[in-house]
Amino acid sequence: MATKALYAGSFDPLTNGHYDIIKRASKLCDELVVGVISNPQKKPLLDIDTRVKLIGQATKDLENVKVQSFEGLLADYVNDNKFDMVVRGLRSSLDFDNEIAMAQMNARLYKGNVETVFLMTSPDYAFLSSTMVKEVASLKGDIKGLVPDAIFDELMKKF
Ligand code: ADP
Repeated sequence: MATKALYAGSFDPLTNGHYDIIKRASKLCDELVVGVISNPQKKPLLDIDTRVKLIGQATKDLENVKVQSFEGLLADYVNDNKFDMVVRGLRSSLDFDNEIAMAQMNARLYKGNVETVFLMTSPDYAFLSSTMVKEVASLKGDIKGLVPDAIFDELMKKF
C-alpha cells in the first residue's frame, strides 16, 4: 500500500530546518504533502498563497512532495485526505513536551490507522525557528543559509 504522509505547520516562513525535515521525510513515504496551516487570526508575515507558492518553489526538485493549504483541525484534514502518517520535527525537549501531548490528542481524533512520526532536527538547524528568522530579518541581520533561496528573496523584499 502506498504511504501518504503529511508534514503540517505554519511555515511563516519555511526555514532550512523545515526543508531538512521535508527532504528526509519524503524518503520515508510515497507521497508527502506539506500542509500549510491557514489561520488568518494569527496575522502571518506571509499570506497563505505566498507561503504555498514559495514552498512549492523551494521543494520543486523533490518529486513526491506536494504543497497544499488547509484550515481548521489537523485531524479533520488527516481523516478527510486519508493520510497514513503525520511527520513532526523535534528540536529539543521543549518541542517534545508539546508534541507528545498534541500527538496523543490527535491519536484520539484520527479515524484510521495514522502514525505520528518524529524526525530529530539536524544539529545545524536545532536553534532555528520561523520566529527567530523573522526577528533577525526585520532587524536587517543576515539570514543567508537559514531559509531556502526563494524565501530569502521574499524576505529581503519585505524588510
Ligand atoms: P507551528 O507554527 O504550527 O508551530 P512550525 O511551522 O513552526 O509550526 O513547525 C512545523 C513543524 O516543524 C513542527 O513539528 C516543528 O517542531 C518542526 N520544526 C520547526 N523548526 C524546525 C527545525 N529547525 N528543525 C526541525 N524541525 C523543526
